[in-house]
Amino acid sequence: MGLTKNSTGLNAVDTGLDLKKFLPEDKVIALAGNPNVGKSTVFNNLTGLNQHTGNWPGKTVASAQGVCRHNGKNFILVDLPGTYSLMPHSAEEEVARDFMCFGSPDAAIVVCDATCLERNLNLVLQALEITPNVVVCVNLLDEAKRKNIHIDLDMLSLRLGVPVIGTIARKKGSLNRLMQAVDTLIEKGGNGKPYQVKYDEHIEEAVGLLAPLIEGKFGSKINPRWLALRLLEDDRALSEPLSKFLEVDVFEDREIMQQLNLAWQRLEQGGITKENLRDRIVCALVLTAEKICKGVITYDKNTYNSRDRKIDKLLTSKSTGFPIMILMLMVVFWITISGANYPSQALAILLFWGQDRLTDLFKYLGAPEWLHGAVVLGVYRVMAWVVSVMLPPMAIFFPMFTLLEDLGYLPRVAFNLDKYFKKCSACGKQALTMAMGFGCNAAGIVGCRIIDSPRERLIAILTNNFVPCNGRFPTLIAILTMFFVGTAAGLFQSALSAVLLTLVIILGVVMTFAVSKILSLTILKGVPSSFALELPPYRKPQIGKVIVRSIFDRTLFVLGRAVVVAAPAGLVIWLMANITVGDYTLLAHCSNVLDPFGRLLGMDGVILLAFILGFPANEIVIPIIIMSYMATGTLVELEDLSSLRQLLADNGWTWITAVSTMLFSLFHWPCSTTCLTIRKETGSLKWTAISMAVPTLVGLVVCFIFANIARLFL
Ligand code: GDP
Repeated sequence: MGLTKNSTGLNAVDTGLDLKKFLPEDKVIALAGNPNVGKSTVFNNLTGLNQHTGNWPGKTVASAQGVCRHNGKNFILVDLPGTYSLMPHSAEEEVARDFMCFGSPDAAIVVCDATCLERNLNLVLQALEITPNVVVCVNLLDEAKRKNIHIDLDMLSLRLGVPVIGTIARKKGSLNRLMQAVDTLIEKGGNGKPYQVKYDEHIEEAVGLLAPLIEGKFGSKINPRWLALRLLEDDRALSEPLSKFLEVDVFEDREIMQQLNLAWQRLEQGGITKENLRDRIVCALVLTAEKICKGVITYDKNTYNSRDRKIDKLLTSKSTGFPIMILMLMVVFWITISGANYPSQALAILLFWGQDRLTDLFKYLGAPEWLHGAVVLGVYRVMAWVVSVMLPPMAIFFPMFTLLEDLGYLPRVAFNLDKYFKKCSACGKQALTMAMGFGCNAAGIVGCRIIDSPRERLIAILTNNFVPCNGRFPTLIAILTMFFVGTAAGLFQSALSAVLLTLVIILGVVMTFAVSKILSLTILKGVPSSFALELPPYRKPQIGKVIVRSIFDRTLFVLGRAVVVAAPAGLVIWLMANITVGDYTLLAHCSNVLDPFGRLLGMDGVILLAFILGFPANEIVIPIIIMSYMATGTLVELEDLSSLRQLLADNGWTWITAVSTMLFSLFHWPCSTTCLTIRKETGSLKWTAISMAVPTLVGLVVCFIFANIARLFL
């Protein structure tokens, strides 16, 4: 999940919008909204881009921008991270607030969820304090209708004093009216005076003391009421962006500070302290939203949400939550394994047939043997292996995972695991980042931004590698099938593989808990923070879109990356296997050095070397092992898993080697992309080094203990 260039952080842009790329007449529109209200869907359908969408809160972790053409004009849409509030508690909320305040958008669209509009109005009211030029987009109208919720959009518009447009973001047509409203708003030069929240009299009095002074100094550059409130809150985090924007440091302005002192005296006379001021402000916002919604929203209490509650009971209750979760995992693996079997074989036959034809071509052209070796036996063969082994399972696994995500099942998984993460003094949201790691650990690491506490975020980052990514699945599946299930394809075999794979995953999850606990007792001490995990409504996934998106955005993206890494790696390995120093090849030299160490861990030098050379991408570990063994002179045609098993057995593999290799595949350093992502996310080489050391240490210890105990019983 979340596995696109955006999610791995490659395409993420900061709030600093690069306006140089646009024409002066282009209009900049901020797109804000609570998490999971369909904001990315609105953005994608208006811009034709593909921000990742998924049915769980908190997945838009960076802002993206795109162009929407409407009425012959360009509107630059900036998709801000989902936020509940513009009084920030997290880095994402800060990004959204800063863009709304200091990004000078021409207008802002605040996307709301029609099924919980009252809560969403909180953000609308805060946005209106910053800029009057807001268009409210009440999305998910179809879901509201299904839940018998009726919303009087005209009355809401009248009360708020801004345009309110109802949409079903999945249907592009309904978004035309939204853009029309934005266009009209900009054309007429703004909304005039929209609704303003009234705070209690002491706060209003204090604001009254400050706002005129601020207005006198900065004119219309910034909303004086909004700034007065933030000054009263003593929001020092604002100081830097504010100084940049206003070109003076407000907190250093003597007149303003004097007036602020006076305002504070008034507040204190009214019994308001620095500690309870924010509570009072939030309280006023909530009460105002409630007041505005009276008469605007009507619903039938009896039918509202009852279906979702019944399903929730089943999926999250003590007795059924866990069994369903494990069963679901097994079913996903089973479908993946059994479905991937035949296409994998067919692809392998096709691609290795291609290898023979390429050989013919090289012979026909009279190419030298070394060139044929490097290109066909090196580069092509490794790529062929990677494609035939990886493509089918990914093409099945990703759409299924995306479907579960779109349905809203993943937050229920987080809910089930929350208690256990808390027990390890970690954050329940770690379950979501863990799930993202199934697709790609780099995506999982970026996803850790949804965890607010830096301590808990680090725990999640350091342990993300304990769930195997898609690059490691094929290795695990291949070894399981060869050594523990039997290579004949059949219903029973694939079901058994699925059960065993599930056990491997459960081991990874258990290790995640154990290591999280150890980290929180040692280098990352602290108490778990509390957070509200929102269970989003179940939504019917758009199956066609899910399949197309997960094939193009995820499967081909991962495969492309693997192939790009596999091609040069194939060349390097072939060279190492064919350049001789003394009596041995380079590869043999390296694996010989590693051999005693590998054997201590239940493996051998070749396997250990394969893991080391596989640092660029885990997908190439098995190809490296094959090439190394093949280079030792055993000639086999590798067309299916049984010939691979034979090759491995000929090179001394036993079930102990198989289990040790699987364990090490599960527990070893993250791949290079993940390491780079960790470096980027933590900004620290130290934490990057620790996140490489932690899983490696676990792998060394687990493999050592397993191999040596198992040998006793052999
Ligand atoms: P974001 O977190 O606000 O960016 O939300 P997304 O755009 O990722 O949407 C969350 C989920 O709601 C996705 O599964 C969307 O397909 C779905 N969704 C978005 N808009 C609508 C809508 O109007 N109706 C329905 N039924 N689903 C929607």
